[in-house]
Amino acid sequence: MSFSMQVKGEVARLPFELQCCRWAELAALARVLGVVRLGKQKMLVMETEAAVVARRIFLLSKKLGWSSLITINRYSRPRRRRLFTVQIPLVKQQHYLLQDLGFVDRDQVLMDTLDPNILEKNCCRKAFLRGCFLGSGFVGNPNNAYHLELSFKTPAGAREAVKALASFGVKPNTREHRDGYEVYLKEADQVVEFLRIIGANQAVLQVENCRVLKDMRNQVNRLVNCETANLEKSVEAGLKQVAVIEEIQSLAGLGVLSPALRELAELRLLYPEASLADLGKLLTPSLSKSGVYHRFREISRIADQLRKKQSMVKRDGSPNN
Ligand SMILES: [Zn+2]
Repeated sequence: MSFSMQVKGEVARLPFELQCCRWAELAALARVLGVVRLGKQKMLVMETEAAVVARRIFLLSKKLGWSSLITINRYSRPRRRRLFTVQIPLVKQQHYLLQDLGFVDRDQVLMDTLDPNILEKNCCRKAFLRGCFLGSGFVGNPNNAYHLELSFKTPAGAREAVKALASFGVKPNTREHRDGYEVYLKEADQVVEFLRIIGANQAVLQVENCRVLKDMRNQVNRLVNCETANLEKSVEAGLKQVAVIEEIQSLAGLGVLSPALRELAELRLLYPEASLADLGKLLTPSLSKSGVYHRFREISRIADQLRKKQSMVKRDGSPNN
């Protein structure tokens, strides 16, 4: 099951809260899924492939005193799927569903934005966002990337979601595309906050676990990077030492070195890429890393002297002294 469906399953099973929040959640579901069907009896029709969502709509409307009807259609093309259709009558004993949901005014005229009373309270804004997510939301698997989006047919729906999110300090991005409007979040903190707002506590834990694992992996990567960088540095140093030793060899021969320095110089020629610590272990008796370092400094001092002598010889033309 996708992470998205898992989160929907979790929030669709949350207990029903206050009556005000039920209206807000159903208004959101109607906003993202609803179509008004005119006929003998006018109906608000909502279609979804998720059984849990159809069940949630059915139970919400029942708790609000509106009976609904669910039908299931099975399709095999273009792919196998089930489509649940929930229908709620628009009028019932002088009650108007769209008015209760905040879509139309007293004169049954469609309003540009949802009745502000519906989204006035914090509890209701949370329920509204939950409804939006159930109806049209998608959240990516946190193992891959952090991404959560809500799709709307109208700009009004997108605006309402952005406003509700802003009241909780979440600032989403929006974009318009061929089929409607999208409100989306790309940052882990914001995705977690959204899941917390809609009451998906299991999902919050799961995303946080993923984050911890990812952080640990990044830390290990950083350590490995540092180690390779150090290793490269030591290889470079080793090759410089080889050059110095070869210089001594050509200027005066390794015989000018004391037996201890000569042993180290010969080992370095054999193992140009070995670390100082490893070379120290090969010496008899073995020597610490800093001991080896000091011997190399001694070797380069000798090379410096030989170089100076050589340049003096060239200037004087007299080979001795
Ligand atoms: Zn409420």
